[in-house]
Amino acid sequence: MDYYSKQINRLVAQLSSLPGIGSKSAQRLAFHILNMPQENVEALSDALLEARRNVRYCSMCYTLTDDTLCPICKREDRDHRTIMVVENSRDLAAYEKTGKYEGVYHVLHGSISPMLGIGPGDIRLKELLKRLQSDVDEVIIATNSSLEGETTAMYVSKLIKPTGIKVTRIASGVPVGGDLEYIDEVTLLRALEGRREL
Ligand code: ZN
Repeated sequence: MDYYSKQINRLVAQLSSLPGIGSKSAQRLAFHILNMPQENVEALSDALLEARRNVRYCSMCYTLTDDTLCPICKREDRDHRTIMVVENSRDLAAYEKTGKYEGVYHVLHGSISPMLGIGPGDIRLKELLKRLQSDVDEVIIATNSSLEGETTAMYVSKLIKPTGIKVTRIASGVPVGGDLEYIDEVTLLRALEGRREL
């Protein structure tokens, strides 16, 4: 991209390092940003920096939040004895959007993948087991229905079984290999309602 100046190339390179942004989109975004009023660009860069600096893991469920406890864990009217295990914060958001789930969550931040060398120690499983030492009635495993998601579900259920806590898996209304975040709310609810005990 020698036809652009150094600073434009730098901006395009940074933008194209983001997921889903190819070189054409990066150029379009770069020129859009260059045409924005300076205060809007400052607001954008502030939002990026502040979020990166202040967002951390909820000390209870490990979702991304900007406080010690996330808004869901803070709420007393949620059922803290029902924990839904999801792979990431986007899956949590997908279930929250249904507005029908009253329990709390546990975010693993990934799934077990022997192919990619991601083992049980690389996701937030220890933290989940620790939470199970308090009063918990049910753990709902809502990992994706991909190979990794299923492997993780099996592993988690085997870990929890000896504790005597009820372990369920969401129904397979969710298409195989489907990412939870792209599935509509009706399908998600049906999968939740049709969960079966492992
Ligand atoms: Zn939380």
